[in-house]
Amino acid sequence: MSFGPTRLQPLHRDILNQYPDQIASFERGDLEWSSNEFTELKKSLRLSLRAQQEGRCIYCRRKITVERRNATEDIEHFLDKSKGKYKKWAFTAVNLALSCHPCNMQKSTRDMGDAGVSGAVELTEACGEYSWIHPYFDDYFENIEIMDAWLYIIKKDAPKPERARKLIQDCLLDQIKTIEADKVAIMHRIGRLHNLAARCVLKNPERAKKILDYTGNFVKNGWKYV
Ligand SMILES: [Zn+2]
Repeated sequence: MSFGPTRLQPLHRDILNQYPDQIASFERGDLEWSSNEFTELKKSLRLSLRAQQEGRCIYCRRKITVERRNATEDIEHFLDKSKGKYKKWAFTAVNLALSCHPCNMQKSTRDMGDAGVSGAVELTEACGEYSWIHPYFDDYFENIEIMDAWLYIIKKDAPKPERARKLIQDCLLDQIKTIEADKVAIMHRIGRLHNLAARCVLKNPERAKKILDYTGNFVKNGWKYV
């Protein structure tokens, strides 16, 4: 089971290049990020990033809920576009990723870069120090290991242990409340699968067996799906 790519590639640069006039208007302050002029661009960005991220949040690596995707999937600016010093990177490919709503809430308006980053002309791996594991410049799984039932461990030889520690801590990735909520969701789904198998058992025993096999696997690995 994959938890998504270890680092992102700026594959959506071509999409951004299709909207030079709108982006220039944004930079002049004539258009807001929320403007309808950006609806199509955002839609294309979401599709591209969703595919690359395998539908997972870039920070916690959980599946972003499918049923209410628009309500829970946020286009995330690693460097917060609402800060004047980072506004210039609102449409920079390596500053964009998708996060789940809970992670985005925890990140809020935290400052993710130091003076080197904010003063840089071009956003690169070496232009300064970042607070968290960077979606494009760091290797997520060289730094963090996700163990059974969403236990986040900083890797022993992590190249950026401080960034990993801050991400886990600030995003509340090890918070017991989150783990408990997952448990409830898993139990609920197991209950539904069990009822479905029970309804099939007389009319379609073959299907009932398939559902029970799936349920068995879900009991073991269900945490990876929530
Ligand atoms: Zn998340």
